[in-house]
Amino acid sequence: MKLTAFLLETALIALACLYLQHLFLYTSIKTMENDNMSNLPNCPKCKSEYTYEDGHLIICPECSHEWSLTAQEENDDESRIIKDSNGNVLNDGDTVSVIKDLKVKGSSSVIKIGTKVKNIRLIEGDHDIDCKIDGFGAMQLKSEFVKKI
Ligand SMILES: [Zn+2]
Repeated sequence: MKLTAFLLETALIALACLYLQHLFLYTSIKTMENDNMSNLPNCPKCKSEYTYEDGHLIICPECSHEWSLTAQEENDDESRIIKDSNGNVLNDGDTVSVIKDLKVKGSSSVIKIGTKVKNIRLIEGDHDIDCKIDGFGAMQLKSEFVKKI
């Protein structure tokens, strides 16, 4: 009877140990996963994923490119601000009107001054407005030739 109790106790202790060990391993694996899943961007130069943070800088160990995350975000924000001819900030979905006659590339048609353009979409590039104009179809305009209505 006593022996059984002793064996049982040993078994329980062993189980508890295994459980603790398992718990410990599990936690350390989780921590490792978290480390790998840090939100650092890939290197803009060589696309390496092994970038690491050093103060305000992100450093790429592969090509030793260094850059600042905050500065980059600010630049992105700035380039996304597109203004009309009056200096008003344009947004996706705005309605604008054309402030001068615009020749349509590759055709003899002209978009007349005052033409209303609904639901514009801002894009990157020289022509920074993507839109559809009645009678013309899909079109790209320059923000400097429109004004927000
Ligand atoms: Zn790199």
